[in-house]
Parts: sequence; C-alpha cells; structure tokens
Amino acid sequence: MRLRIAGGAVHDPANGVDGEVRDVCIDDGRIVAGLPAGAPTLDARGMVVMPGGVDIHSHFASSSCNHARRLIPDEHAADPVAAPELLEGELQARSGTGGTVPSTFTTGYRYAGLGYTTAFDAAVAPLLARHSHAELDDTPCVDGGIFVLMGNDEYLIRQIEAGERDRARDYAAWLLGAAGGYAIKIVNPGGVEAWKIGQRNVNGLDDAVGGRVTPRAILEVLTDVANALALPHPVHIHCNNLGVPGNAATTLATMEALSGRRAHFTHLQFHCYGGEPGKGWSSGAARVMEYVNAHPEVSADVGQVMFGPAMTITADAPVEYLLHKSSGRRWTNIDIELETGCGIVPLAYKDKAAVSALQWAIGLELFLLSRDPWRMVLSTDHPNGGSFLSYPALIQLLMDRSVRDERLRQVNPGLLGGSALADGLAREYTLNEIAIVTRAGPARLLGLRHKGHLGLGADADVTVYGRDADIARMFSTPRYVVKGGLLVVEEGQLRRAPLGHRLRVAPGYDEAVLRDLRRHFEAYSSVRFENYPVRDLPGVPVPLGQQ
Ligand SMILES: [Zn+2]
Repeated sequence: MRLRIAGGAVHDPANGVDGEVRDVCIDDGRIVAGLPAGAPTLDARGMVVMPGGVDIHSHFASSSCNHARRLIPDEHAADPVAAPELLEGELQARSGTGGTVPSTFTTGYRYAGLGYTTAFDAAVAPLLARHSHAELDDTPCVDGGIFVLMGNDEYLIRQIEAGERDRARDYAAWLLGAAGGYAIKIVNPGGVEAWKIGQRNVNGLDDAVGGRVTPRAILEVLTDVANALALPHPVHIHCNNLGVPGNAATTLATMEALSGRRAHFTHLQFHCYGGEPGKGWSSGAARVMEYVNAHPEVSADVGQVMFGPAMTITADAPVEYLLHKSSGRRWTNIDIELETGCGIVPLAYKDKAAVSALQWAIGLELFLLSRDPWRMVLSTDHPNGGSFLSYPALIQLLMDRSVRDERLRQVNPGLLGGSALADGLAREYTLNEIAIVTRAGPARLLGLRHKGHLGLGADADVTVYGRDADIARMFSTPRYVVKGGLLVVEEGQLRRAPLGHRLRVAPGYDEAVLRDLRRHFEAYSSVRFENYPVRDLPGVPVPLGQQ
C-alpha cells in the first residue's frame, strides 16, 4: 500500500507545482509527506507526473448509453475487446466491445489506460438512476457519479408555476438523494417538455412551455437551488437552442440572466454559433469568450468536436430529430415519464464538411481565447463530439501550433470567415495548463477536495507519462497509472482493475415536501413512491459546501 514515485517532473497546479522534480509518496490510498527509505519505489526520472484525469462531462453509464449501444452493432463487430490480462487475484477481467460507446468494463479499462481516474455521467433521468448505478458498479478503475436531469421535470415545473420556490428547493434536494446524484443538470430548459407535448421546441428564454413556465424561470430557480444547497458543483447547464445557427445570442442571454450567480455551462462549443437559422453559420466564440473572461462566476467545459465517428446522446430530444432528418442516420427517441426525454443519433464529423470544420474551430477558439484555464476545461462531451479516446489528439492541438495549423489547412474553410482560429491564434498550452484543464480545473469546479491535486491527504490518483515529442502519443499511453494508491497501469499495460468509489450528495430538505410529492406520485406516476428512490447506494455522501 506504500509507493514512492521518484524523480519525476511534477505538474500539480493546484499546489503551485510546475514541473519541479520531486517525489510523490503514497500510503494507504493517500498522498503523504514522506516514506521510510526502504519503501517500494517507482523510478519516474525523466517522466511527467500529474494527478489522475477528471472527466467533468461524459456519457458512459446510463440507460441512454445502453440504447445507444443497441443502435450500433456494426461498431461492436469492428472493435471487439478481449479481457485484459490482469495480475492474479484481481477481479475477473471481462471482455467487451469498444466503438464510440464501449461496454461498461471496457469503458473503465480505457479510461484508466488514458490516465483518467474520475468521471461523471452528465445526464441521468432520476427514474433511471438505478440503471446508472448498476453500470457504474461495472465500470472499474474510475470513481464516478451522475448528474440528475431536472430542467423539464413535471413536479418541478408545477412548483415554479405556483411560485413555490422553497418547495422546489426541497424537492431538488430530495431528488438528488433519491437518485444518488452529484449535481443538478439542466438540458434545454422547457424545450424537452415542449417537444413532448407536441410544441416542437422553445426558441428563447421567454417562450412559455405549454403556457406554463419559461426557460428563464427554470434556469433561475435551479441555479439558486444549487447555490442555496451549497452543492459541491453548481448547476450544470446545457442551454436552449443547441446546434442552431445564431445560438450564441441565446447562450449570452442565459449567462446574463444568471449574472452574478455561480453556474457551469457545458459543451459550450455547441452553443457558440453566429449567423441565423436558414441563413448560414459563423463562429460566435469570440463574443461568448469576451463575456466568460470577464465573469468569474461562469465556468464551462468545451465539448470539442473531433473528426471521426461519434454518437450523439442527449436529453435534448428535439435536436436529435433535426439531426436525424439532416443526416439520414438511425434515430432513437425516448420519453421518460414526468421527467425528461432522450434522443440518440450516430454521427461522423468530417473535416471536409463545412459545419463540422466550423464546430472543430469553435471548440479550439474557446480553449485558445480563454484567459482562465481553471474555468474553461476539457471535454468532448464524450461520445457526442467524439470519444474520450481522442483527448490526446486534442491535447496535441492545444500544445502544438504547427500541428494545429497543418490540420486547419486540411479542413473545409467554407464557414471559417471571421473566425479567430482562421485569423491565426499563436497560443500553445503548457503542460501545466493541460494539467489544469484535464484534472485540477475539473476537480475544483466539481468541488472534489481530494482530487485533481497531489497535496497532503489527496486521493492517490496519479498518472505518469513518458516524455515524447509526439504529444498525442505521450498522452494516449501513460507509463503508470495509480488509482486510490493501487498501481493499475504498469509499463503501459493494465494490470489491476479495482472498483471505483461512488461520488454523490444527500442534501437535507424539509420533509413536508414528501406529503405533497406522494400525492403527485399517486396521481400521475406509474412507479410507487416507495419504490422510486435508489436503495443501497455505495459509499457515503460527499460533504456540501461550494469552493
Ligand atoms: Zn453531454
């Protein structure tokens, strides 16, 4: 249980360490100040040492992912994954399938093989949370949690409609605990409900959904709820009008509506388009970044698009209908009673397609125009913008301007007029900035006090990379990965696959809400109230209190 990682160049930005050569000592799953001289040692001289990666926004453990897996048997046939050869005494190794939505065990193995040790599934309907927890149980090597969808929830909409803000807060607190969730997620506030009642979608913050509530009201109430409950992560927002030309205006209006309040805006790339519906697209990244840079209460992850196959999985069901119509690809639409919807369409981003090239450029612009890497962190919205396996190639684009410019010359430039990237962005990320956007930043935004850093008492999640002039290769095959003090990757090979811990919250609430809620269940739900909460959740809730 003891290990000294000796002589590596340590990048631990949360503790102000930028490439200093020093030892990292581990005892009983935690980082400690030192170890006796005879402790087991791993020679990391000449290598780069960082905390384990933290994925703030991914889709890998949910009923929706399972639907997506069913949609793509061709991908499974193309990427069979044999069980890894683990050391004796380890949990049984499992075979699986890869592709854009790998099977559960393969997801855990591949995250670990990439040096990631924590990941959150960013969109789980509370009714289907039980399924997510079962999948997380089968996703080894990563500590994980789920964000709970609330932005189109019938009971919540009723409370907002009736002006019952306190009851909305008590309900959200109860729902987080009942689902074993970590954060509040809003997807296209009101728009999914509009789709479900045949209204197609909402277009802006003040469109009334079924004449009842506006997206603005849903956003305000849930943002305040997350902050009032002091959840470790603020409200996690997927704005209205995803993927629509001109939606940068909606995104800015949403940020302004919540001005002064902590809020996280997810896969911002999909919400930064200039132009107008029916009249073409352009980049709106510079305009949005001007606002983000000036407003410390705003944080975001990028949702970078990477060229190649992807799988779009989202609660934003109306968007998927449009994507299906425009791409001609397979489509699934799912209704989750009283709570939300879901749509799934497989997709490929092609560098010769003008819109894909614009999306790719906008994501890079967000990274390169961001003045504070702690508030603009890395994601591809796996697998929506591309698989998490493409993170190393993305890191290379950020760190190496010559590779980026070469790639830029190969893409369709049709919509890149006026884009900051096409005009030339010289910035190259440093190793420390990469450490911020892939681990220290996400951990801080998530309020994970023991993750994303290598200070005393931190979880012993550590990744050791061999230096390589080819940055993509360096980040795609770490030499060593330590998870919770256990060496899971040795010499680039997965050797152990421990179960991860569950990250969840259980905020307090006024129990008076339960009486009303029970009546609601009896009147409308096909599930009995008693059977709704997930039981026997593993681990203990994470303490509340925002950073
Ligand atoms: Zn997402």
